[in-house]
Amino acid sequence: MKIVVIGGVAAGASAAARLRRLDSQAQIIVFERGEHAAFSNCSLPYYLGGVVADESNLVVMTPELFWMRYRIEVRTGSEVTAISRDDHCVQVREVTTGREYSEHYDKLIVAPGAAPIRPRSIPGIMNQNVFTMRNVRDAANFKTYLETVHARDVVVVGGGFIGIEAAENLTEAGYVVHLIEGLNQILAPFDEDMAQILHKELMDHGVRLYLGHMLSEICEHTVKASSEGKMIEIPADAVLLSIGVAPETRLITEAGLETGPTRGIKVNANYQTDDPDIYAVGDAVQSFNRLTGQPGILALAGPAQRQARAAADHIEGMCNRVRGFIGSSCLRVFGMNAACTGLNEKAAEKAGLNYDVAYVLPDDRVKIIPGAHFLAFKLVFEVPTGRVLGAQAVGQGDAVRRIDVIAAMISMNAVLEDLKDLELCYSPIYGTAKDVVNMAALVGLNLLHGRLKQVRVSEIRKLAEAGAYIVDVREKPDYEAGHICGAHNVPLSELHDRINEIPRDIPVYLHCRSGQRSYYAICELQGQGWNNVTNLSGSFLGLCLYEYFHDQTDGRKPIVTNYMFN
Ligand code: FAD
Repeated sequence: MKIVVIGGVAAGASAAARLRRLDSQAQIIVFERGEHAAFSNCSLPYYLGGVVADESNLVVMTPELFWMRYRIEVRTGSEVTAISRDDHCVQVREVTTGREYSEHYDKLIVAPGAAPIRPRSIPGIMNQNVFTMRNVRDAANFKTYLETVHARDVVVVGGGFIGIEAAENLTEAGYVVHLIEGLNQILAPFDEDMAQILHKELMDHGVRLYLGHMLSEICEHTVKASSEGKMIEIPADAVLLSIGVAPETRLITEAGLETGPTRGIKVNANYQTDDPDIYAVGDAVQSFNRLTGQPGILALAGPAQRQARAAADHIEGMCNRVRGFIGSSCLRVFGMNAACTGLNEKAAEKAGLNYDVAYVLPDDRVKIIPGAHFLAFKLVFEVPTGRVLGAQAVGQGDAVRRIDVIAAMISMNAVLEDLKDLELCYSPIYGTAKDVVNMAALVGLNLLHGRLKQVRVSEIRKLAEAGAYIVDVREKPDYEAGHICGAHNVPLSELHDRINEIPRDIPVYLHCRSGQRSYYAICELQGQGWNNVTNLSGSFLGLCLYEYFHDQTDGRKPIVTNYMFN
């Protein structure tokens, strides 16, 4: 059998390698348009910052190695320009020589990925100081340009994963980084309350953040961006565009094969297109969200490799289960680790699901162990089933491990009860006996069963400004160090003696630092007949993290006397 693969990176190279493992006799040819196959796109931002010191380290496998180890023929610098389905051939053009020829296939795997978006309507978008970053050459050209022109100011457009990783690395490399983002938050898979922590982290490390701004023009040494009709000008020696990617589908559509509503290539559970001899995998393919059933494209390396394996398996006679994706991703933002999986609030709402959230900020390990730090953790669950829908975690500690746990639970259709009982590793060095994920499940169950009412950090400003009755149950020195303006201080240790100070006839909102002591206070009050008490979800720490960024950047009047972040 002769198998041709178009695209030689995450999906294409994985498919070819799996095919060889399954079939030692097949002839396998991979065509890659670029000068490298099998390189680490995910490490490109870290090359900008010097974490990956040498360009050559980005290339995982050379064509020579592919041939020597696996007898797979990888032809780099070779673009497939057309698929001829009737005679089972692809047309190939050598990029450097222009030579054209055709190659027969019995089975074809199309893995062309997705290309960075560069909107032609924006004046200056094709200027020589404007870059995108998809492959090793792109990253090397960008880095060389920055060094050659002795760049100082770099504008990164787009606050997605690539944009944020690039912003971090460029800052570490000594550039002044300006980040423009059209939405009012970075990293759309996170909700605003979680993203706010990362906004602060970026700002604390010197990244100039322009949220809610749209790029409108690129000039020689500046860019223009607008927000609600107001134009600003930002210094820019170079610009990195990272505003998303579009699936490369030209070959497929010109071959008369279908794409879906997401513009990704339509495939079945075995990654076959409408033509049973043509498979498609990776960033170019439309899949579906397992939680909502909606079609979607997930441009991530893990899913690309899994799809590649599934297609190869099917070519060799094995079938796959239809699973779709849940969407799990992570990144580092300077000192913070951030990870998310499944649906965030916006996605749950859009899908028309009835949901609630548990937002906890406990320490990520036993407090007396050096390095203990809060881990902001948000769990989204379905009401009334308790089905786990998604989670997000941000902190200095191991956010990724916690989110991987939730990803596994979502994959197994878990409910809050399952998460509550989940038995996880514990040592004070790594966590707490009741891990953050267990804790979030407990809070979720309290909410689900009506044992706890909560208001969200996003609602506290309005409440505080309206003079709502807020009770801070932290000890007096903590209160004096910084508190919500107008809050009453009744420490938990004094609550028994002062319980009658708490009104019964108006709504009362309680908080402490992280929500644990205020929950005890609420239990005590409810036990004694108070039915008007509500917890401030996220508590004081969550509020500080939520409000700080806007107070600093928008010049708003702070609603706390002194922001604290520990
Ligand atoms: P690609 O890796 O894009 O490979 C497709 C290849 O096909 C390209 O090299 C292209 O040149 C070639 N090609 C296209 N058309 C033709 C043709 N007609 N003929 C011949 N060759 C062709 N994902 C994560 O999960 N985690 C991360 O941290 C992460 N970080 C990333 C950072 C960056 C800077 C980038 C760019 C991506 C990152 N990703 C990350 C996404 C991940 O790299 C992609 O999801 C994955 O590479 C997709 O694999 P693919 O094979 O479908 O596409």
